[in-house]
Amino acid sequence: MGLGMRIRALVAVVGLLLTALAVDAVAAAQVRSVRLWRAPDNTRLVFDLSGPVQHSVFTLTAPDRLVIDISDATLSGSLNVATANTPITAMRSAQRTPSDLRVVVDLKKAVTPKSFTLTPNAQYGNRLVVDLFDNPADAAPPTAPGPTVATVPAVPVTPVKPAIKLPPSPAGKRDIIVVIDAGHGGEDPGASGSRGQHEKDVVLAIARELQRQVNGLKGFRAELTRTGDYFIPLRGRTEIARKKGADLFVSIHADAAPSAAAFGASVFALSERGATSETARWLADSENRSDLIGGAGNVSLDDKDRMLAGVLLDLSMTASLTSSLNVGQKVLNNIGRVTPLHKQRVEQAGFMVLKSPDIPSILVETGFISNSKEASKLATASHQQALARSISSGVRQFFQQNPPPGTYIAWLRDSGKIAQGPRDHRVNPGETLAMIAVRYQVSTAALRSINHLKSDGLKVGQVLSIPSTELAAKE
Ligand SMILES: [Zn+2]
Repeated sequence: MGLGMRIRALVAVVGLLLTALAVDAVAAAQVRSVRLWRAPDNTRLVFDLSGPVQHSVFTLTAPDRLVIDISDATLSGSLNVATANTPITAMRSAQRTPSDLRVVVDLKKAVTPKSFTLTPNAQYGNRLVVDLFDNPADAAPPTAPGPTVATVPAVPVTPVKPAIKLPPSPAGKRDIIVVIDAGHGGEDPGASGSRGQHEKDVVLAIARELQRQVNGLKGFRAELTRTGDYFIPLRGRTEIARKKGADLFVSIHADAAPSAAAFGASVFALSERGATSETARWLADSENRSDLIGGAGNVSLDDKDRMLAGVLLDLSMTASLTSSLNVGQKVLNNIGRVTPLHKQRVEQAGFMVLKSPDIPSILVETGFISNSKEASKLATASHQQALARSISSGVRQFFQQNPPPGTYIAWLRDSGKIAQGPRDHRVNPGETLAMIAVRYQVSTAALRSINHLKSDGLKVGQVLSIPSTELAAKE
């Protein structure tokens, strides 16, 4: 046998081996379904797989297309997915070879793709995630008709559709900015209730209501980290807070507990010291076991417990601890009036990672969605409003006592137009709500609202919060 013949024979053998491997691999992975999430600046495709895959992604122009090649895979489900408000016009697929699947995404305009795979978790199996980022030139016209918003303006910008119209604050006296973070979102539903409620939906509803209420307070402005059903990485959330010039960051959750019987609301702040509760210790432990932060770009979107731990860990880097504990306790006191508390004190988790603090940050667990009674309560608009009211009250009380310099609230306090510190009133025998309102020169409506009173009946010894006259006017 000549050398050429030997090589040809070898190639044939190798070819046979490869074919055998390929035949084996045909059943290696199936693409079972695709899910789609639209965020303000990107579209996320999540392919659900029966096992791990190798893949590659590239774009083609004229017309714009995105090609996703998945090795050792076949399509067993449908690629049908609603693509309204996305750059996608259609999705189709073909087997490039018996073992290799090609998915072609037809596009209205060019996108910048980024992709990665995820390993199974409690909720999902192996996944391939493809993010289609809008190109900046395309994204600008529909969203930002006005001047650029690269810097935080000293004079507040009125939200596009304020629920409650307020006169602008005096020139040069900025609003206090509260950034509200609805946990989870998109393909990360968070915890799930017994009747199929998703944490991501409940917390977005509470966050929106809280934003509406905070925007109704003169001297305050609220911004949301996410405004719809899509995922934002943990670092993205605190980055948004920093970009918006947050004076306070409030993350809203309604997680599951290891025990389905667990119930009640809690408020977390960060601590460099040891954990102060079992829950906090459990979270800290699960965090310390994993190195999800700083991972390969797909930070913790696959596990809600690690998610919560990760949020806390990330918050620790920006938390101003004393302020966080202070505002946290005020929020907790108010929440205690509308729902049972899981813990009477602000809880702290002992994470090691701490950077110089600049934004006070708290995480509010509004209740355990794993508890069926609490899950049904959390799904009602009235309870969501009450929770939001208690959080906004706590936030307002904190900033009345600790207004950041240069803000309208600081100006009010310094010019004696605002009471320093919250006022409480213990109801004496024979007192009515109207009498108390007259005494403190506030409206009965404001008293009812801030104290969540369902009727005007008072009990002797009951403690009422008295709103300051300046702020009470806008209630
Ligand atoms: Zn959560």
